[in-house]
Amino acid sequence: MKKRILVTGGTGFIGSHTVVELQESGYDVVIIDNLSNSNADTVDNIEKITGIRPDFEQVDCLDFAAVEKVFAKYKIEGIIHFAASKAVGESVQKPLKYYRNNIVSLINLLELMPKYNVKGLIFSSSCTVYGQPDKLPVTEEAPIKKAESPYGNTKQINEEIIHDTIASGSPIKAILLRYFNPIGAHPTGLIGELPNGVPQNILPYLTQTAIGIRKELSVFGDDYPTPDGSCIRDYIYVVDLAKAHVCAMNRILDNKQLEPVEVFNLGTGQGLSVLELINKFETATGVKVPHKIAGRRAGDIVQVWADPTKANKVLGWKADTTIEDTLRSAWNWQVKLRERGIQ
Ligand code: NAD
Repeated sequence: MKKRILVTGGTGFIGSHTVVELQESGYDVVIIDNLSNSNADTVDNIEKITGIRPDFEQVDCLDFAAVEKVFAKYKIEGIIHFAASKAVGESVQKPLKYYRNNIVSLINLLELMPKYNVKGLIFSSSCTVYGQPDKLPVTEEAPIKKAESPYGNTKQINEEIIHDTIASGSPIKAILLRYFNPIGAHPTGLIGELPNGVPQNILPYLTQTAIGIRKELSVFGDDYPTPDGSCIRDYIYVVDLAKAHVCAMNRILDNKQLEPVEVFNLGTGQGLSVLELINKFETATGVKVPHKIAGRRAGDIVQVWADPTKANKVLGWKADTTIEDTLRSAWNWQVKLRERGIQ
C-alpha cells in the first residue's frame, strides 16, 4: 500500500513540484493550502503532469481544528511543511503576520503529529539562517547569524522549536532542509512560480521583464567585492530541489539509524552573480533582458553558495540540471502563462 504524505503549502511554488516528485516516486499525497499565495488550478495541473489527482484540502494551518480533521481523515505517514509567508520585505512591515503564520502553523503540526502517530517531518528552512557566512562554500556547521528580517527569524525560531520539541521526548524525527535560491519551473510549463504582485525574487522579475510586463530589471549594486561587483547566489533548479524532498522522506520513513533532527544544505555548490545570471538567461533563451544598475539594497548578503556534500552523501541526492536548462524552463513557464492569458 502506498504511503501517504501531507504536504502543507502544496499548491505553492516548491510544494507543487514536490507533490509531482512524490507521486512519481510512489507516494500518495494530501495537500493542505489556504491559497493565500497560490491557486486551486495547480491541483489540476499536477494531475495533468502525473495522471494522479492529489487530495486537496483548502485549510489554513493556523486553524488547529481544521488541520486536526485532515489528520483524522487520512492516515498520514510523513509531513513536508512548506506553508509559510515568505516575502522578506513584507515581513519587515508586518512582523506579527509572519511570526503568527510561520510559527503557529508549525506548532499546530508538532502538537498533532504524536497524537496521530505521524513519524516524520521535513521542514523548509533557508540559507538565510547563515547570514553572510565567514567561509564559503557554507556547510551545515556554519554558525547561525542574527536574522536580518522577521521572515529569516521565523526560520531560525522554527528550527529551534523543532529541536526543543524533539529534545523534550516527542517521538518524531525531523529533517531541516536549508534551501539556497530555488528557480525554474516544471519542464511541462504547467507549474512554476507565480508571485502575487511585483515579484520579490529575481527570476520571476527577470522573466516578467523579458516578456515586457516590467520595464527593466534593477541590479542592486555593482560595487560589491565580487569579480563583477554584483551579488552572488547559488541558484538551484526547483525540480532538483523537489527531488531532494523525496530522498529526505525516504530516509525519514525507512532509515532507523537517522538522528532525531538532521540538517541539509540544498544547493548546487556553484555561485553565480546577478550579472552572470542575466547573461546566461540571454544566451540560453536568445531573449534580451533590459536591465540597469541600481544602488545597493539594504540587508542584501554579498555572496553565498552551498557546500552540498552532506546532502550528496547522506541523501544520495545531487542538483545536476544545468543553469541553461533551468533558465529555459523559467522562460517556457513565462511564455505559457502568456499563452494561457494569465500574465
Ligand atoms: P509559496 O508562497 O509559493 O508557497 C507557500 C504556500 O503556502 C502557498 O501556496 C500559500 O498559499 C501557502 N500558505 C501560506 N500560509 C499558509 C497557511 N497558514 N495555511 C495553509 N497554507 C498556507 O512559497 P515557496 O517559494 O514554494 O516556499 C515554500 C517554503 O520554502 C516556504 O516555507 C518558504 O519560506 C521556504 N523557502 C523558500 C525559498 C524561495 O526562495 N522560494 C527559499 C528558502 C525557503
